[in-house]
Amino acid sequence: MHTAIPMDGRKVAQAMKEELAAEIGGLEQAWRARHPWWKQGADVEFLLSVAVIILGENPTSLSYVRILTRSCANVGLRCKVRWLPADAPQEQLEHEIRQMNLAPDVIGIILQTPLPPHINTAQAVALLRPDKDVDGLHPLNAGRLAWALPCISPATPLGGIEVLRRYDVAIAGKHAVVVGRSNVVGRPMSLLLLASNATVTTCHSRTADLGAYTREADILVSAAGHPGLITGAMIKPGAAVVDFGTNVTAEGNLIGDVEAESAAQVAGYLTPVPGGTGPITNMALLRNAFTAARLQLGLADFVLDGTAHEL
Ligand code: NAP
Repeated sequence: MHTAIPMDGRKVAQAMKEELAAEIGGLEQAWRARHPWWKQGADVEFLLSVAVIILGENPTSLSYVRILTRSCANVGLRCKVRWLPADAPQEQLEHEIRQMNLAPDVIGIILQTPLPPHINTAQAVALLRPDKDVDGLHPLNAGRLAWALPCISPATPLGGIEVLRRYDVAIAGKHAVVVGRSNVVGRPMSLLLLASNATVTTCHSRTADLGAYTREADILVSAAGHPGLITGAMIKPGAAVVDFGTNVTAEGNLIGDVEAESAAQVAGYLTPVPGGTGPITNMALLRNAFTAARLQLGLADFVLDGTAHEL
C-alpha cells in the first residue's frame, strides 16, 4: 500500500539549528566591529539578544519563553524577556518597544500576541523597527511581502517553504492551494508560494466546495485549525501536503487539520503532527533574527536592492 514520505520537521529544524549556530561567530565579529565601545556584562553568556515583550504571565507565555530561551541558546543567542503587567498601559508597552528598538545588542523583537484588549495592537506593531521585526508583522514587512520584495516574513509560513525546499518539492509552476488566510500563517504562505512562482489558490471558511480546490493541488497547505478538515479523498495523488493545524483533542493529543491515516495513502509527501511544521517555526524565527542583524549591520539591504537577501 502507498504511504506518503513523511516530511520530518525535527530533522529540518536540527539542520537549520546547526547552520545558524555556525553563522553566529561571523555575525558577532561584524557586530563587534560596528560597536567597538560595547562592553559585555560579565553575567551575560551571549553577545546578541532576541527580545520578547510579554504582557502578563500565564502558562502559555511561560512555556513559550522556556522554549524560545532554549532555541536561542542552541544557536548562541540570548532571549531577553521583558515582562510587563497584564494591565500595563499602551504608553508603557510603547516605551518598552522604543527601548528595544534602540538597544544595540537586541537584533530582533517579538511582541507576543494576542495582546490584552485594552492595547491597540496595530499601533504597537507599527512602532517596531521594521529591521528588528522578526515576526514580520510590521506593515512595511507585510507590504513588501505582498509585493514580493525582500523582507522579514512571518516565521511559520517561512518554515513551510523551508520544509518543501529541504524535501526537494518543486514549487515553481505548480498549483498550490492554501486553506486559511490569517495574517500570520495562511496569507503570507500564499504570498511566499506566489513569490516562488507557484500558481496559488487561497481558500477560507467561505469557500464553497473546498474539496474541488484541494483535489487540484500539487502542493496543499492547511492552516485552518480545524481537525480532520482535509481527508485523503480531498488530496490529489502524489501531492505534497503541509499541515500547519495544531489542534488539541479531548484526550490532550496534538493533531493537525489533515486526517493523517487517509492522507498518507494518497499524498506523496506529508508533514506529520506533531513533528512537522511546529519544530521548524522557532528556527525560522531565529533565522529571521540573523537576517535582521544583517540588515542592521548593512550586510544586507532590504530597501534598495532586491537581490541583497532572499525572501
Ligand atoms: P486563524 O487566525 O484562526 O485562521 C484560520 C483560517 O482558516 C481563517 O482564514 C479561516 O477562514 C480558515 N478556516 C477556518 N475554518 C475553515 C474551514 N472549515 N474551511 C476553510 N477554511 C477555514 O488561525 P491561524 O493563526 O492562521 O492558525 C491556523 C492553524 O495553524 C491553527 O491550528 C494554529 O494553531 C496553527 N499554527 C501552527 C503553527 C506552527 O508552527 N505549526 C504556528 C501558528 C499557528 P476565514 O478567514 O474565512 O475566517
